[in-house]
Amino acid sequence: MSTPKNLPELLYAAPSDRTAIILPEAGIRLSYAQLRDQVMTMADALASLGIGPGDRVATVLPNGLAAIVSFLAASIAGTAAPLNPGYRHDEFSFYLEDTSAKILLCPPDGAPEARSAAEGKVPVHSIDMDASGFVRILDAPKGRKSPSPSPDDVALVLHTSGSTGRPKRVPIRHRNIAASARNIVDHYALTGDDVALCAMPLFHVHGLVASTISTLLAGGAIVVPSKFNPLSFWRTVRDCRVTWYSAVPTIHSLLLARAGDERPAGAEGLRFIRSCSAALPPEMMAKMEQVFGAPVLEAYGMTEASHQMCSNPRPPAARKPGSVGPGTGVKVGIMDDLGNLLAQGERGEVVIQGPNVVDGYENNPEANAKSFTNGWFRTGDQGVLDAEGYLTLTGRIKELINRGGEKIAPREIDELLLKHPAVAEAVAFGVPHKTWGEEVAAAVVLREPQSEAAILGYCKEHLADFKCPKQVFIVKTIPRTATGKIQRGAVAKELAAGAKG
Ligand code: AMP
Repeated sequence: MSTPKNLPELLYAAPSDRTAIILPEAGIRLSYAQLRDQVMTMADALASLGIGPGDRVATVLPNGLAAIVSFLAASIAGTAAPLNPGYRHDEFSFYLEDTSAKILLCPPDGAPEARSAAEGKVPVHSIDMDASGFVRILDAPKGRKSPSPSPDDVALVLHTSGSTGRPKRVPIRHRNIAASARNIVDHYALTGDDVALCAMPLFHVHGLVASTISTLLAGGAIVVPSKFNPLSFWRTVRDCRVTWYSAVPTIHSLLLARAGDERPAGAEGLRFIRSCSAALPPEMMAKMEQVFGAPVLEAYGMTEASHQMCSNPRPPAARKPGSVGPGTGVKVGIMDDLGNLLAQGERGEVVIQGPNVVDGYENNPEANAKSFTNGWFRTGDQGVLDAEGYLTLTGRIKELINRGGEKIAPREIDELLLKHPAVAEAVAFGVPHKTWGEEVAAAVVLREPQSEAAILGYCKEHLADFKCPKQVFIVKTIPRTATGKIQRGAVAKELAAGAKG
């Protein structure tokens, strides 16, 4: 199996009659031939709707067949731009405009805020699955054939939180995704016998590349529930004969809490469990291995790397708790502030190189100048390499709140709070949380009386739930350093000792 040049080639990696997708709730199984048929039909429908190379197809869909077929079809006819269905009206407006979306695909009765944000600006089309499990764009014209994309075409555009409140646009090319999927398949020795359960949302690289594209490249099957449900998770694992799954520590901890000390039926079929997108505490890893009886491999991924950069290896090679493992087909270095590569054992910024790494942010020369040094991409994470090349992450240089793998730019929350008429000063920060890893909190100085509840309500109106501060401290002054700067970490320490955990 060679590295495909583009995503449509993936669809031909496996024998036509082999199962590609299992929808556990609907009891539907799709073969590779059926998946191909659906994807190419939708790519042609998009072309007939006027979508050509580079045109952005925004989607607002829950996990399921529509999300996978529309992602593949959009990346063939144009560029897929999947959006988080949890966004609020203002967030949809921003993303639709920022991506220059040419079309928006939604479920027939869903996504009211996305639909209203698109009104008068972006044509909206409904997408639905019929009883036989065929997903199509309703009322789409016919007549045009979608051309096959080149390896350099942008397959997927996603956003990452920046140091400003404005997210950066990440154009991921077919060749980037193909290289990343190849690395993942090789590292975990995925084959056509593997069955992956997709527990992560299909609007992030974790769910799209690690669970979905890598499985298609290996010719295996992907089980796609509509959302993560700890109550039915193991039943699905057992019934569908799942051999591995990938998730964030928040999901692992919910599964552990339910399992108690008993190995869930179905877990015996797992070759390994993968953890990525947020730090996995070594105690959680040990407990998972003890209860689930499968090796737990922590990996390190990011959008700009089309997901995976490092991962602990499968046994008999050593997996090291607290480490994210060596680079997986990706060169990993440690750099100082001046751009010098540091020696093994020295702490600095994690930098990477490889064909999975994007060429640069879109239309953002300032971010590109900051993020690329001597051909290395600066991740904004801090770490250290050991003598065997295993990376341990030791901190973050970039300002991010990592809530169960969802990244939140605190500046975006500051900016929203500052637009409130009663707020004179605002600072958002992350506080430790036992299930989410980190949770969002904020401190505000008021210019007129206002309750915490009213400010929380205001945030809920404008921000997706995961971004909303769960606690707002109303303070007289925001603590500053001697030079008058606000340091979020220091504010968090001073104020958040009593935050809800
Ligand atoms: P995203 O672009 O949403 O995938 O987020 C990428 C960021 O997630 C990285 O730059 C890290 O800060 C964080 N991250 C990913 N994997 C891990 C991990 N295993 N441990 C700690 N942080 C992680």
